[in-house]
Amino acid sequence: MTRKFVDKELIVATHNSGKLAEMVDLLGPFGITVRGAAELNLDEPEETESTFIGNARIKARAAVEATGLPALADDSGIQVDGLGGAPGVYTADWAETGNGRDFVMAMERVNRELEAKNEPHPRTARFCCTLVLAWPDGHEEIFEGVMPGQVVWPMRGNNGHGYDPIFVPDGHDVTFAEMPTDLKNSISHRADAVSKLVKGCFV
Ligand code: IMP
Repeated sequence: MTRKFVDKELIVATHNSGKLAEMVDLLGPFGITVRGAAELNLDEPEETESTFIGNARIKARAAVEATGLPALADDSGIQVDGLGGAPGVYTADWAETGNGRDFVMAMERVNRELEAKNEPHPRTARFCCTLVLAWPDGHEEIFEGVMPGQVVWPMRGNNGHGYDPIFVPDGHDVTFAEMPTDLKNSISHRADAVSKLVKGCFV
């Protein structure tokens, strides 16, 4: 049985202002105060696990321990089948340069590795998002969202962020980066996970 959220305040354990704004929008109507990790000066813990759930749990638990309040955290990334599920939890790491993130470099690597293996088309992949809602008494609820699709080359489109220019979601023939943001945000892996969270804990 999923535990309902009956508290008045929720910490969203992210320093990403876009993700925080999305959660404020989605959860605000349920009459709770949503506050972000940056506003509370929370540290960003190291993501040392090898699964999305493990890393989301690290972030949620660190925020619970620092504040004594329930906290929500997410972890996301892209799994490419022809690369054995890589980059997966290392999706952001593939873009690290030591001097900021370079997602063109990361997308080039995905394509280079697929080409090196002569992977057939369609090059199936999926974006994943895991949400962990953690309470101070140790209880947790976990929700997983997925958007299946394929990786294409060359990059197409200027909207979105991260790996959007090389991902064509199933049922569409444009990349996430070619779609209007509203459409992407309504079908994405994150939308899928958030809708499961709302159904499970907020209604
Ligand atoms: P994190 O969940 O903030 O750790 O981010 C994981 C990484 O996955 C991000 O840096 C992005 O590169 C990538 N990612 C997650 N969601 C999306 C998306 O919707 N489009 C493109 N890239 C994404």
